[in-house]
Amino acid sequence: MSSFAGVGGGRAGQAIVIPSSASRFSGPESSNRGVLFRLRRLADKRILDTRGGCPMLIVMNTQATQEQIDEVCDRIVALGLSAHPMPGATRTAIGITGNIDVVDPQSFEALDGVRELVRVTKPYKLASREMHMDDSTVEVGVQNRIPIGPGTFTVMAGPCSIENEAMTMEIAEYLVSRGVHCLRGGVFKPRTSPYAFQGLEYEGLEILDRVKQRTGVAIVTEVMEPDQVARVDEVADLLQIGTRNMQNFPLLKRVGKAKTPVLLKRGMSATLEEWLMAAEYVLAGGNKQVVLCERGIRTFADHSRNTLDLSVIPPAKQYSHLPIIVDPSHGTGKRAYVHPMALAGLAAGADGLIVEIHPQPDKAMSDGAQTLNFEQFDRLLEDLRRLAEVLGRRIV
Ligand code: PEP
Ligand code: MN
Repeated sequence: MSSFAGVGGGRAGQAIVIPSSASRFSGPESSNRGVLFRLRRLADKRILDTRGGCPMLIVMNTQATQEQIDEVCDRIVALGLSAHPMPGATRTAIGITGNIDVVDPQSFEALDGVRELVRVTKPYKLASREMHMDDSTVEVGVQNRIPIGPGTFTVMAGPCSIENEAMTMEIAEYLVSRGVHCLRGGVFKPRTSPYAFQGLEYEGLEILDRVKQRTGVAIVTEVMEPDQVARVDEVADLLQIGTRNMQNFPLLKRVGKAKTPVLLKRGMSATLEEWLMAAEYVLAGGNKQVVLCERGIRTFADHSRNTLDLSVIPPAKQYSHLPIIVDPSHGTGKRAYVHPMALAGLAAGADGLIVEIHPQPDKAMSDGAQTLNFEQFDRLLEDLRRLAEVLGRRIV
């Protein structure tokens, strides 16, 4: 009996993937896809107990007899596990749950009537709810320990780029006066044009450090290269990975070694699975504090810079325990749309918001068109507070 790569051979932390291509289950085998799908759904609905590990699935041959199926079920039960036979149109599959670590895949594969053994799991293990059922909370900042997670809605705001110290102080003091303790601001800027302002780089980092010392705000700022991480890490309270770097694997591995939490923006054309796999890189590196950020994706729409994909929030919450925030500034590209989409993000279940603000948005050195002024941000905060109250959430 042939086995296939990855089945049953995974060590802890190693991704074991069920091939998602139809080819394995195409043609006469296609009913297996239905069985697999059902098992996954049961796992998703928590009908199957996945606490002891990811559920496993034994796929029987089409000709397997009832005796052979019973024999497999008995072996499963004898190991102290639960068997979940699921007859399909052409073949039966048997789900196994419990502490699947005790299962020797080869001993099952050798049984009469067995076609193959499959681990039903997401390829992102550490990011997955299968591994971590409760919502995670990531705490940001040493002074305030600002939570990002269930029950709260965390507001982060600041300019697209740090431009100078006076303006950064002004924004930080304004935010603190409004009860907002998370300042965003880029010093390494990923710009489409090489001729556009590239950020103040390390000089900007020093500004952020001084503003943080004086006001106590937590700092959210982007890192673009692995070599920047060590120094940025000394100042930042949340290391931002920008949309263009979501699959910069050396960078993901490097921030996986950092002590500071990571804000992982979704790639502008990334699927949810690709995004969670990117998070997995950071988690697998040892940094367990990852916050996802939906910042808009590329679609055919031309009424906005990007399409803020709020519909990704419920599935992200379903499949992952990681907190998720929204960025309606980059998600829309137009300041008039930021306020309604920020409220929609809260209503859709996001755990927070990152928004671009500036004392004079029209003079901003980057992203002015999507940046709110203080008055507009005040109005947004007021509406967020009102909506949060109705939804039983606390703005932090
Ligand atoms: C930003 O936050 O200013 C930024 C460049 O974000 P993104 O990577 O989402 O474009
Ligand atoms: Mn920006």
